Amino acid sequence: MIIEMEKNATREEIKDVINVVINDFKFEAQVNTGEERTVIAVLGSNTGDIDTQSFEVLSGVERVVRIQRPFKLASRDFKPENTIVKIDNIEIGGKELIIMAGPCSVESEEQIIGCAFAAKKSGAKVLRGGAFKPRTSPFAFQGLKEEGLKFLFKAGLEAELLIVTEVVSSQDVELVASYADILQIGARNMQNYQLLEAVGKSKKPVLLKRGLSATIEEWLMAADYILRGNGEPKVILCNRGIRTFDNFTRFTYDVGILPGVRHLTHLPIITDPSHAAGNYRYVPDFAKMAVVGGADGLIVEIHPNPKKAMSDGAQSLTFSDFSLLMEELKKIAEVVGRKI
Ligand code: PEP
Ligand code: MN
Repeated sequence: MIIEMEKNATREEIKDVINVVINDFKFEAQVNTGEERTVIAVLGSNTGDIDTQSFEVLSGVERVVRIQRPFKLASRDFKPENTIVKIDNIEIGGKELIIMAGPCSVESEEQIIGCAFAAKKSGAKVLRGGAFKPRTSPFAFQGLKEEGLKFLFKAGLEAELLIVTEVVSSQDVELVASYADILQIGARNMQNYQLLEAVGKSKKPVLLKRGLSATIEEWLMAADYILRGNGEPKVILCNRGIRTFDNFTRFTYDVGILPGVRHLTHLPIITDPSHAAGNYRYVPDFAKMAVVGGADGLIVEIHPNPKKAMSDGAQSLTFSDFSLLMEELKKIAEVVGRKI
């Protein structure tokens, strides 16, 4: 349930309510200090047993409502205003569309530095690249691991780009967080709850991909796992295609969820057109659809020589195709009231 404080509730009143939630009722409290008012989420498995009046009577409380949806901290009931995730000088979820680009896997220092400068030149703000790769086959390239993180870090520094990279195991969170600005949770790990808790505790911004066959509710509950440890909301959602009966494209492109998800959650949403398409020919159009559909940004795979890529070459754009796409996206962004 959530406790909405009165607009002019004092700090003391807010503290008293939190105290009652935690110490008298033994629930968890998460606070959203909004522009309008403060909202306190009361979290626990048995909040349903408690009468809302227990909190309504407290001084400074405007009203108490039960959150009907299974996800809580990610919901607009808890935080009505859009969340903007600020990292250094970029804002994800603001007017500017944030483009993240880079190879599927970091393969060498030269490759990632080449990608970084190509991404930067075209207007990307974040460099992607996998160092720990969750591969479907155990025999496929698993990534350069810490060496890859070092190359990625160097490339980001030289090209002045932020870094997003995937973390696949709770044990690696600290290591990956020491190199990356944003931790990526891949589709295959969306329901790895220990990993979600670990990245939440790291307090780093997290890019949370939608699971291959996860419902929207499951995805937003996964976000709750991270937000619970985050303190302040630093989760960026990412749709990347889902598995259906149809294998015409690598995954079925779930771009149609964007308006509905925006209605349900305050979190920013970016789109990955590359993994949905699975084929470089479709990636530019998929990217454009996401911008028109209201995505707050994109994450796109690029490679200096896609035919030689160690993973996902078929869906990777060449530097020149990426540059062309960015020019087109800049025009489309303007039409929908955004900018790149
Ligand atoms: C990736 O970003 O390279 C990746 C493995 O993505 P996903 O988790 O969406 O498959
Ligand atoms: Mn990939």
